[in-house]
Amino acid sequence: MTSSPQRHSTGDLLGHQLHGPTDPIRDVGWDGTHARKGFFTDTSICIGCKACEVACKEWNRNPRDGDLEITGWSYDNSQSLGASTWRHVAFVEQDREAIEAARESGRRLVSLGMPTVRDGGAGSEGGGATPSPDTPLPPTSPPDTPEFRWLMASDVCKHCTHAGCLDVCPTGALMRTEFGTVVVQDDVCNGCGTCVAGCPFGVVERRSDGTAAPTTRRGERKGEQPAVPKEGVAQKCTLCYDRLRDEETPACAKTCPTTSIRFGDHDELVTSARARVAELHAKGMTEARLYGANELDGVGGTGSVFLLLDEPEVYGLPPDPRVPTADLGVMFDRAGIAALGMIGAAVAAFVGARR
Ligand code: SF4
Ligand code: SF4
Ligand code: SF4
Repeated sequence: MTSSPQRHSTGDLLGHQLHGPTDPIRDVGWDGTHARKGFFTDTSICIGCKACEVACKEWNRNPRDGDLEITGWSYDNSQSLGASTWRHVAFVEQDREAIEAARESGRRLVSLGMPTVRDGGAGSEGGGATPSPDTPLPPTSPPDTPEFRWLMASDVCKHCTHAGCLDVCPTGALMRTEFGTVVVQDDVCNGCGTCVAGCPFGVVERRSDGTAAPTTRRGERKGEQPAVPKEGVAQKCTLCYDRLRDEETPACAKTCPTTSIRFGDHDELVTSARARVAELHAKGMTEARLYGANELDGVGGTGSVFLLLDEPEVYGLPPDPRVPTADLGVMFDRAGIAALGMIGAAVAAFVGARR
């Protein structure tokens, strides 16, 4: 076990920052014994084996989502993240035209020097160093542009710097851990579902059903159907909090055979992610870009950082995620002004009526 981190008094929590760059661990009062932990998921080396999905389910004893029927539109039969699927590997088919378009959109990010744009906005960035005018850009298209490719990407909870799920939870069931991750406390969650609407990535979900026993070919359950655990409770990736506290690597990262999922100190992962983007750009893969590494985006950057090979939307990710509580201060100010105006109008009406 790691040494016990200390949490400051609740008075420190009153200054909790709602948007912008911050250290999420100290922001909620932890003493900073541990570095922020996170993932770097490099989709350029994912082979779509889905071992991460299986390892996650196995370690966390999550039930299956139904009977994994063929969708008819993809070999990806788990389809999306959900209450029982905390890692999801997307399969996206691309032909030559789509690959060239991805390369061109990435090239525009490089040419615009997006990594140095620091005023918030898009969740993705070019990731490499901004080229000086004298530096020749890498070749814009590698000689072996394929006719077809699969984009495979293992998605997961982003463990946001400013987590909408946590900010809107009325019971405090979602908590920021000493590792800077976001975890649901199952026994505190009342199943209200507010966090589901608060997550800009559509990650967290209430577990409404599930399948704990497989079916026979005739569609009947084999043996007794055990009760689905934690029904009605909001569920999502914990970044294997139980394993982290024992200084173990999360199950998905431990299992990934290609090191597509890397776990470690967040800042070091972001540095190596930027180096990887620069390496791919040098090989002509200008479509490579980072997602979640910009601390000035709408969620203050994410603990789970991704290297993508196309626009975020292609993978089903929001291009410009924004925590719903970011504008809370402005909203309160405006509500205060409106209330003062109404009080002033009421007083004026009362005084006017007495004359
Ligand atoms: S991705 Fe969604 S569920 Fe995960 S920490 Fe961010 S807001 Fe919460
Ligand atoms: S960190 Fe743990 S809980 Fe999260 S996706 Fe990986 S295996 Fe699942
Ligand atoms: S992230 Fe790793 S374990 Fe998951 S599908 Fe890709 S290669 Fe397999």
